[in-house]
Amino acid sequence: MSIHPLSRPDTPASSPETPPRSTMDRVFASLRARPGVSAAGAIVLLVTVVGLGFSAVTSPAEAVTAQWHAPEGAAVTPTAAPAEPTADPAANAISMSATGDIIMGDAPQDLPPNGGKGYFDKIKPLLPADLVMGNLEQPITDETGTGKCPAPKPGEPVNCHQFRVPPSYAKHLVDAGFDLLNTANNHSRDYGSTGFTNTQKALDAAGLKHTGATNQITVVDVKGVKVAVLGFSSYAGNNSLLNLTSAKKVVAKAAEQADLVVVQVHMGAEGAEKSHVRPGTENFLGENRGNPHAFSRAVIDAGADLIIGHGPHVVRGMEFYKGRLIAYSLGNFAGGGQLRSEGRLGWGGVLKVTLNKDGSFVSGQFQSTIFSGAHGVPQPDTKDRALGLITQMTKDDFGKSGAVLSADGAISSPAT
Ligand SMILES: [Zn+2]
Repeated sequence: MSIHPLSRPDTPASSPETPPRSTMDRVFASLRARPGVSAAGAIVLLVTVVGLGFSAVTSPAEAVTAQWHAPEGAAVTPTAAPAEPTADPAANAISMSATGDIIMGDAPQDLPPNGGKGYFDKIKPLLPADLVMGNLEQPITDETGTGKCPAPKPGEPVNCHQFRVPPSYAKHLVDAGFDLLNTANNHSRDYGSTGFTNTQKALDAAGLKHTGATNQITVVDVKGVKVAVLGFSSYAGNNSLLNLTSAKKVVAKAAEQADLVVVQVHMGAEGAEKSHVRPGTENFLGENRGNPHAFSRAVIDAGADLIIGHGPHVVRGMEFYKGRLIAYSLGNFAGGGQLRSEGRLGWGGVLKVTLNKDGSFVSGQFQSTIFSGAHGVPQPDTKDRALGLITQMTKDDFGKSGAVLSADGAISSPAT
């Protein structure tokens, strides 16, 4: 049975120092998973905005009913005289959920049974929110003839990895409850620009929103609140997290078009030992994987209200900056038999966040998940291992700016 890497860099947007493939491959080899090894972890981060919830305006997909906080006092008081307009804070709040990396399999040889039907059933109860998002870490396409990997030579180790699932798999994302998928990452162009375009078409056909292409600002109207979602990575064809000037510019543009701005970003080095966030640029395999600390602050300064990070394949801590939550990494959500699952590589979770229309933080929740089995199927983790790791990393890395995480996963901002 072949082994697979956690992920591999694809086309660095600006990485003149990219090492020879042989070097990267050696490193990747150390990160590989063996499909069939049980127990993989996944992080499902659901960001939920509380309140009346949103209905996706630009999306054919219907918004999911808010499951966080039912607005208090929703009942009308019929006996009251025409009341003066009173602001109901919950009325302008929305719930959002988000997950880390999603891989459902690798066509044609390594796909889950029954055509992938029910792949997300175990985790589905954790996902509902007014806007449900995930990081799609693979193309959804038929074979394009333009895969990035050369044909393997008999007797030689497979050193290049590309993942795809057929277009029919888009419906599994719909079944899970996803509304919007991020395509800014190192695998979205595994099958070239044709594969990338095919992915967008497959998502469109399924009624799913997507974001991640350069200058793509996806605006979703969620129950009257306009939410702009953008995707960033260090790879060509996506908004670049390496150029803070351009990043701030596109975020500021998004802020002009919407009430809330959500940034999806594939940032940071990869691997089990990469759980920490330190100020400074992170390099991996000779590539500049960005400065998560500086990037997150820059885009919040430019108008972002929530930062959803992924890419390291492990969860990282969370902090607040100017009242905005930064989730540095949601880790892996679904492995598809392609991602390693041992130890913390298999731990994941669901982050839910509720934001007011003005971007202020209302509440948050993290629920741990894990993926396992030959096909990396995600499920709830009753041992809350990802929550424990996030809590520890948050304490280690952020001090007073760190998010306050309770034992049950509730998230709140630190006292100021
Ligand atoms: Zn990746």
